[in-house]
Amino acid sequence: MKPLAVLSVASEAFPFVKTGGLADVVGALPAALAAEGVTVWTLVPGYPGVLAALPVADVALRLPDFYGGDARLVVGRAAGLDVVALDAPHLYARPGNPYLGPDGREWPDNALRYAALAAAAAELARGRVPTLAPDIVHAHDWQAGLTPAFLRYGEGGHAATVMTVHNLAFQGQFPHQLLPALGLPPEAFSIEGVEYYGSIGFLKAGLALADRITTVSPTYAGEIRTPEGGMGLDGLLRARAGVLSGILNGLDTAAWDPATDPLIPANFDVRTLPRRSANKTALQARFGLDPDPNALLFGVVSRLTWQKGMDLLHEALPAVDRAHAQLVVLGAGDRPLEAAFTAAAARRPGRMATMIGYDEALAHLVQAGADALLVPSRFEPCGLTQLAALRYGSLPVAARVGGLADTIVDANDMALASSAGTGFVFSPVSRETLEIVVDRVAALWRQQVVWRRVQVRAMFTDVGWTRPARCYAALYGELAAQEHAHPAAHAPTHADAAT
Ligand code: ADP
Repeated sequence: MKPLAVLSVASEAFPFVKTGGLADVVGALPAALAAEGVTVWTLVPGYPGVLAALPVADVALRLPDFYGGDARLVVGRAAGLDVVALDAPHLYARPGNPYLGPDGREWPDNALRYAALAAAAAELARGRVPTLAPDIVHAHDWQAGLTPAFLRYGEGGHAATVMTVHNLAFQGQFPHQLLPALGLPPEAFSIEGVEYYGSIGFLKAGLALADRITTVSPTYAGEIRTPEGGMGLDGLLRARAGVLSGILNGLDTAAWDPATDPLIPANFDVRTLPRRSANKTALQARFGLDPDPNALLFGVVSRLTWQKGMDLLHEALPAVDRAHAQLVVLGAGDRPLEAAFTAAAARRPGRMATMIGYDEALAHLVQAGADALLVPSRFEPCGLTQLAALRYGSLPVAARVGGLADTIVDANDMALASSAGTGFVFSPVSRETLEIVVDRVAALWRQQVVWRRVQVRAMFTDVGWTRPARCYAALYGELAAQEHAHPAAHAPTHADAAT
């Protein structure tokens, strides 16, 4: 049987361009799907980092006068991915963060930049390039959200569509006047289509028009159907609940393997756990903390934002002080939070340190050296840092939301009594509950034998891509097997004529 062919469409893919977990997922899922007999082409914008990674690339399709300039789709293989890059210098030949200009603001033409990505995806989904014709087109987040809209309002038959929400907070809303410039017909601006409270909603369009919707954890799939978690889209998501499911993300267990990780000074696994302490020593040295092996060392690897509960953590620092614990913070984000954490560290020399910035290698050292990783997110679609923490034996201390709730078993007394528990989970998310959980962590730290057992269970947690990839492969298989009733794709049948 011919393997299923999927076109994955996204604005980021690790290792070429990454601002968050989306890139990790898009970069890691294809290899796991290959093991399930699914072939994946990954369509990404031709940012400088993408084109540089594809020195040998074939032109698959020329797209003259495409959103303000000539463009082309180039294909090549890099970092284990079969990449299709939308080479459109007028849209993407800009260094740095993919979404923000040098002034830190969104590029003013982001609507066009990501409409172009979706329009290119639609060309491929219609089979314009026979060697790249997919059975399924899988759109990730708002930047790819218009893909189902171009297919719905365009001509011809096409692949089935899956829309995945990695974070409902980012929706891609733009003024309705842009509709013609985006290449959409007037009828697309309707409640069934791209219209969203008087604007054009890229993610909304994808959620309304895709054949299937997934999000990145079962709990988040439930949360986004509630008024509290739905961010304005809960009504639509309730209406589409029958085609919505949650599939947990996995971790790239090759890149994140404490036994082989070249980014940490001492490799270890469950059998050689004592070696881990060398990483703690290195982490304390790197951040200028007191070299105390007995101090409970908390770590943070996070965007410094409201979503991530970083303001609550800042308020809860007295609990860290009370526990005589140490804290390292690696993150970047909101300027006031960056300043607050930097100042808090300055007041706690030897016990707390803050590193503002994005540093992949340092993230590995924090995971390998910290005793516990704090993830007090207000909402968390899946979360990847807690998966790395589990694998590296840094006990996650997390809010009971989204994927955090689905991946960590709270080590409370009941759990411990039945040899369960892989971290700490608290709710509701507040400064008070965060302080209480810090106290709980400190109490368990004083029972080193029990702590070790929790650590070993954490490290045995299955955080890889095999299981999630099976879920995606099953979803694709179901969709491909369905008779696909796209009106434009089918000639009228007798049944149509009879009605
Ligand atoms: P989100 O995508 O919402 O930011 P996730 O937990 O899903 O959160 O993914 C975050 C990813 O980015 C993880 O791979 C994490 O290690 C990484 N990361 C976040 N902040 C930093 C940082 N300051 N330096 C290095 N890596 C970071």
